[in-house]
This record gives sequence, C-alpha cells and structure tokens, in this order.
Amino acid sequence: MDCIFCQIVAGEVPSEIIYQDEEVIAFRDINPQAPTHLIIIPRKHVPSLAQLSEAEPSLIGHMVAAAGQLAKEEGVSETGYRLVINCGEWGGQLVPHLHMHLLGGKKLSGKLG
Ligand code: 5GP
Ligand code: ZN
Repeated sequence: MDCIFCQIVAGEVPSEIIYQDEEVIAFRDINPQAPTHLIIIPRKHVPSLAQLSEAEPSLIGHMVAAAGQLAKEEGVSETGYRLVINCGEWGGQLVPHLHMHLLGGKKLSGKLG
C-alpha cells in the first residue's frame, strides 16, 4: 500500500503522533498552516468522506470527539479552532486517506472557498 497516511499508521513513515486509540490516530501536519495544525485519521484506509458516508459514518463522530479533546490539550479550545475535511479533487484533498485538519492558535482567515 503506497498510501502515506497508512504508512504513518504502520510506523513506516515517521511523524509526530500525539494521540492514538483503536480507531484513530492524530499527528502534526508536516506543513503547518497555523500554530496548531493536527491531522486526525482513521487507522483503517478509507479514501475520502465520500466512501465513509456509505460505509461507517460513526467513525466521523469518533474523529470529532478526538479533535475536541486534542483542542483542549493544545490550549486552543477556548479561543476557537477549525475542523476541515477536504473531499475529492475540487474539495482540495491531496492525500487520498480520509483525514480531518484541526487548525488553531491564531485568528483564522474567513475565506472558505
Ligand atoms: P489535504 O490537502 O489532502 O486535505 O491535506 C493533506 C495534508 O497532509 C497537508 O496539510 C500536508 O501538509 C499533510 N501531509 C502530507 N504528507 C504528510 C506527511 O508525510 N506527514 C505529515 N505529518 N503530514 C503530511
Ligand atoms: Zn491509507
């Protein structure tokens, strides 16, 4: 499997993993766009949100719960943060393994599209 995020899950590619449980892991983005920029992914390879919504929607709840906990630990929960899931080419998804961005630690741009 040549999926970079599966390789991170398998420990074959180094990353700064800051949370893991039986369903999801979280690590720091290699090219951070904010002081806090975490990536939260399912361990299981799901290509994008488009596939997840058919297969296992509860996984998103698990990812959001992990994000909420991590936002507290990163100290961005009170000032606020943004969770982003890019889906597909036009949605700006570059890595084809479902992932959620957690961005915080600065006042984020209001631009969404
Ligand atoms: P996307 O545009 O697919 O929503 O975002 C993919 C994100 O993954 C980007 O923010 C990119 O910096 C990050 N990323 C890509 N490859 C790696 C990697 O090998 N390690 C880490 N930590 N982040 C990565
Ligand atoms: Zn994968």
